[in-house]
Amino acid sequence: MAKRLFGTNGIREVVGEKFTAAFVERVAGAIGTLAPVPSRYVVGWDGRTSSPAFARLVGATLSLAGHRVIEVGLLPTPAIQYLVPRLAAEFGVVVTASHNPPEFNGIKCIASDGLEIPRAVEERIEEAVEAPAGPGAPFDRIGVVSAHASGAEEYVRGILDRVDRARIVRRQYSVVLDVGNGASAVTSPALLRELGCRVRTLNGHIDGTFPGRLSEPTEANVQDLLRAVVAFGADLGIAHDGDADRAVYVDRQGRYVPGETMLALLARDAVRRAGGGVVVSPVTTSQSLEDAVRPYGGEVVYTRVGSPNVTREMQRRHAVLGGEENGGTIFPTFQLARDGAMSAAAVLDLMAAAERPLDELLEDVPRYAVVREKMPCPVDRRAPAIEEAAQILARGATRVERIDGVKIFRTDGWILLRPSGTEPLLRVFAEAKAPERARALAEEGILALRESLRDPSLNGPAGRPRER
Ligand code: MG
Repeated sequence: MAKRLFGTNGIREVVGEKFTAAFVERVAGAIGTLAPVPSRYVVGWDGRTSSPAFARLVGATLSLAGHRVIEVGLLPTPAIQYLVPRLAAEFGVVVTASHNPPEFNGIKCIASDGLEIPRAVEERIEEAVEAPAGPGAPFDRIGVVSAHASGAEEYVRGILDRVDRARIVRRQYSVVLDVGNGASAVTSPALLRELGCRVRTLNGHIDGTFPGRLSEPTEANVQDLLRAVVAFGADLGIAHDGDADRAVYVDRQGRYVPGETMLALLARDAVRRAGGGVVVSPVTTSQSLEDAVRPYGGEVVYTRVGSPNVTREMQRRHAVLGGEENGGTIFPTFQLARDGAMSAAAVLDLMAAAERPLDELLEDVPRYAVVREKMPCPVDRRAPAIEEAAQILARGATRVERIDGVKIFRTDGWILLRPSGTEPLLRVFAEAKAPERARALAEEGILALRESLRDPSLNGPAGRPRER
């Protein structure tokens, strides 16, 4: 079996360590074998300092193999996904490490329909990486490389067509946007301006060293935004991750809205508008999603962790909405991609339609306490440890689900045990109405895992549970 390169969302490696010119050239060569020569490939990149160079290396490799390459430049990942089918490309390649720390870069691969490639295609790339490189195209078959400069504008226009623009413009919202020095700098400020917002940006310039904050829009990382929303008396705060497929929100009182609460609100709205329908989310998602959509005839379908799993299931089920608890939301009326800018427009549309601020809209969205923990465990011992722990925990369970890891339901909450997709770690998630109960459930999960591992050297401190 070929060595695994792709994690749950593409390839992510440290620049200058594994992510080198030679590595990227090999991966690009492998991606070039996916489609018959000559095919069309879209190539784009995020705001990391090394991204244009690596992306041009990808483009050059594909061109020298005989493929036609369309460079769309520095754009959010969802903008590049939007362009792949519109430019009639066979594949898209995005050089991005999304929300990872500055030392990382990575590669995401997009299929001709704009969706992230499924696992089976990743496996084809992983196998092709290990095969010797081909001789390359002769001089008269080298693929043309061209630039498509209007991608940002086309993407923004596409989003504007999906919301009631006039209704939002009338409200003249004041918005603070934390770009996080990432790729959304080229699209989100323009989108919000087109929606009639007074926009103030934080960390609004592109800088691959991420001087303003770390790229992942967690509550801890966006404290400046919380303060700025209050200081400016803004209606809304929005923060994106580095490649802007995610958006998180701050209400007018300067409170960070947990991703699972926002997902429940957006899903409830989508289900209500559609008069029912399917919502797709990974097994890690909060019970609040089901609670929010069920009264309106909505059904939640769960998948394995990873947005490619969510979008493919949405396609199969004709879902009305999908998303993750981290601010990655998928609006199928626009495209089957996690989309931070589309999310921002949808939230403003929801506020404008209801003529209510976000904090009021969230009042009746059910909330739970979620605890997320991890513990070290060698990769080969993870599966048996989870199995044994699950047997201990299954006593007193109302239901056990095995979509990704093992999820054990109790009458008043659940515990999920799963291996990390990329690291020698076990993840323990727990949820209940009361924070103390969620913490107790997580500790029960950790204890069961320790018992099944029976190795004191692996029993590092569990750390302080976080509540959200
Ligand atoms: Mg991202």
